[in-house]
Amino acid sequence: MSDRIREAIDFAITNGILKYDSQFNLTHAPICLSPFGINRETLDYLETTTPIFNELMVKVGEDRDFLNAQLEPVAKTDDFIRRLLQIFSGAELFHHLQISRNDFLMTDSGQSSLKVPKQVEFNAISNSFIFLSSQVYMLHRHLVKRLTCDGKLVVNNTLDEVVDAMAEVIDYYGYPGARMLMVVQDKEQNIFDQRGIEYRLLDKFGIQTMRLTLEEIAERGKLKEGHLAIDNKMIALTYFRAGYSPNDYTSEAAWQGRELIEQSTTVRCPSVGMQLAGAKKIQQSLAKNGVLELYLSREQAQKIATSFVGLYDLDEPVGDMSASDLAIQSPGDFVLKPQREGGGNNFYDQDIVKMLESLNPEERKAYILMERIKTPVENSVLIVDQVTEETHTVSEIGKYAACFRDMKSIRFNRDTGYLVRTKAADQNEGGVCAGYACLNSLCVKED
Ligand code: ADP
Ligand code: MG
Repeated sequence: MSDRIREAIDFAITNGILKYDSQFNLTHAPICLSPFGINRETLDYLETTTPIFNELMVKVGEDRDFLNAQLEPVAKTDDFIRRLLQIFSGAELFHHLQISRNDFLMTDSGQSSLKVPKQVEFNAISNSFIFLSSQVYMLHRHLVKRLTCDGKLVVNNTLDEVVDAMAEVIDYYGYPGARMLMVVQDKEQNIFDQRGIEYRLLDKFGIQTMRLTLEEIAERGKLKEGHLAIDNKMIALTYFRAGYSPNDYTSEAAWQGRELIEQSTTVRCPSVGMQLAGAKKIQQSLAKNGVLELYLSREQAQKIATSFVGLYDLDEPVGDMSASDLAIQSPGDFVLKPQREGGGNNFYDQDIVKMLESLNPEERKAYILMERIKTPVENSVLIVDQVTEETHTVSEIGKYAACFRDMKSIRFNRDTGYLVRTKAADQNEGGVCAGYACLNSLCVKED
């Protein structure tokens, strides 16, 4: 192993770029040695559209009529969405904090080296790598003199930006000594990413965090004059790092925990409406003609719509065929998606054909088809489990943002940094903890 690689691994371990593997052995998180290069114009596009996407999603997350109309057909066969809609129908539209990550893949523009970002999805709940992406930026800053990055590293301070937003919201809640509740899974491979947030919040602002599963919240939580209290401690902000998947609700007690949170005045990050607004069905509905303009100015709508690729109902006509027949004819040009978050749920290639031929008419409404984004392949050095490999890769950029809505208006709406995941070009999905994708940074090439 070269000195450079050894140093990168040691830096990663020293600075908490860690995870548990699937057997719960401690290891460094997968990292990419060479930052991902983009043009200034691409970075500007990502930065200027971030607040627009946030404004859109906050408005959609409060639009009961729109969410119900779009998601009720899905809820007929998808119990998880049905249950969330039920909670949403009883939930007050209280204040909520949105910590989002909007993911993009780059496409070739056909001219020079300019890359055009295309939206993969807007993640509205449990966005990970807030701590680890900041640490990977520090890793690259440390190594920068020896890196093959012919541009300027883009500063990434997501951890502080997000923690500052959390502290501001907890202060706004105005209950002295109130804490943050982090809703977590019982076993978490990515725990260090969560601990990084918890420790910075305590260190910088003296704010305590309680980590509980939904079941534990049901058992130990109570409403106290409308506030959420856990073991008699007041909770100003409830931050979901679990609760995005049906696997987090394997008992009725877990649903009771969720309902208790939703009945209280705690600031939710995110609200159930925002969680629903992040559904893939909603992404597809927003891409239909004229829908963005219901929430945004024409100029804003045009700006963000340039990042959309084709998004379809299965039975929607595309030219003289249905989207689903088109996907059966050329499955390599599509991704088939159910209403799930967290990776590993989508269908590609021949699996699309099998699924499309087996779904019944009701089940078809719970899926969408998305045009497959063809992203340029580069060469990168990946380090996974102390093993180094130089290989063909593709990179995905996530833009983090924090947006706080109180009873009256949007109080802040900020860009809070980025995540880059670089994966082998032959991998469809990019889960860092499943070992597929490597954490990376951005550098800007001035040309
Ligand atoms: P999840 O909610 O499971 O994260 P995503 O829609 O983000 O679902 O898809 C997971 C991964 O699959 C993405 O991070 C991306 O790497 C890949 N992917 C998703 N949609 C597309 C697409 N339209 N074209 C190419 N790759 C895609
Ligand atoms: Mg995703």
